[in-house]
Amino acid sequence: MAWSTPWAPTSAELRACVECGLCLPHCPTFRLTGDETASPRGRLNAMSAVASGAVPLGAAVAEVLEFCLQCRACEAACPSLVPFGRAMEGARAESAAALSRSRLRRRIAGRWIARRGAVRVATALAAVGQRLGAGHWMPGRLRRGLRGMRRLPLRPRSVLGTTHEPAGPPLGTVGLLAGCVMDPWFGGVHRALIAVLTAAGYRVVVPEGQTCCGALATHEGEAAAAERMAVVNRAAFAGVDLVVVDAAGCSAHLVGHGIGVPVEDAVVIVARLLDEGRLPRVPPTGTRVAVQDPCHHRHAQRIVSAPRTIAAAAGYTPLDLDPDAMCCGAAGLYSVAQPEASGRLGRAKADQAAALDVDLVVSANPGCEIQLRSHLAAGIRVAHPVEVYAAAVGLI
Ligand code: SF4
Ligand code: SF4
Repeated sequence: MAWSTPWAPTSAELRACVECGLCLPHCPTFRLTGDETASPRGRLNAMSAVASGAVPLGAAVAEVLEFCLQCRACEAACPSLVPFGRAMEGARAESAAALSRSRLRRRIAGRWIARRGAVRVATALAAVGQRLGAGHWMPGRLRRGLRGMRRLPLRPRSVLGTTHEPAGPPLGTVGLLAGCVMDPWFGGVHRALIAVLTAAGYRVVVPEGQTCCGALATHEGEAAAAERMAVVNRAAFAGVDLVVVDAAGCSAHLVGHGIGVPVEDAVVIVARLLDEGRLPRVPPTGTRVAVQDPCHHRHAQRIVSAPRTIAAAAGYTPLDLDPDAMCCGAAGLYSVAQPEASGRLGRAKADQAAALDVDLVVSANPGCEIQLRSHLAAGIRVAHPVEVYAAAVGLI
């Protein structure tokens, strides 16, 4: 074997592929290019060639690996149950260990994102950038990124270190993952979720000692950094009954990798509480909303009905933004690493929203929200389904 780290793709993972090609039509990068090396089968073949020693792990293989969105649409479509996401995480870890490329992205994902001071500085710079106006003097990628972000407060209100009690005896104690950028950039989502969970009868705690979930680090091949983050989160959430996560990428990572206590995505628990009659509903208004399925919901966790249940409980008529469930092109730092492919996928979502003629899209992942908002036509709002619900029933 030519691999060198404990995260490497295993022979069993690679052998599971029978090369049937049924995943190819579901792969966004294959659909963009028609190129076998941009397909799941081609990527698994590249990993097998490295594993057997037939091909060195050099720049050519790294390019094949890095063009993958890690959206896992192939995994959901594969009849042989190839664990593509796990194998690709392992291959990225190998590539990061063997090659010195993508150092800045790896440093951001593996170190800076978990440092609150660094996130605070980035947030302050972005807030100032928004106030200066995203003018044409800015580089195009930065301008688009700022356009996609919510209006950032100069002094973000953090929910870290807070505890929220329900009106009566608590049904249980839920720990909220504050996340790396969710807390300063999407604090409104946290506040909406806390309001909904306490209204349903849960005590919500947001432990101060937690850190980033590690998803971005794992995406960029920084598996050791992700494991260090998991150790911190295990300690921070010890003693809660359930960890709830309101960002699809983070919930997929924590559900897949585990932190010692049960983990559930926010849309799943809110939809269940609605089904159990613990939360109110508003009557249908006939207003249409497009539901965008983050890949980390639809493909990684097979979550499909929950956001639609929540949108319907908020009085909306939910429509599929993309019945083919293609990735929007956000995919961690993909829009930075592969701006051309990411832009094409983002523009496809904008066309789909325009065709549906909606003025609201719900998405339960911060990266998808930024990507959608930077491509959608002006006037189309993007929000988390739990935020939309909490506002509709008067909880926020
Ligand atoms: S990954 Fe699965 S669907 Fe794709 S070629 Fe291999 S066996 Fe077939
Ligand atoms: S994870 Fe997504 S982009 Fe990568 S091979 Fe699978 S379907 Fe294609």
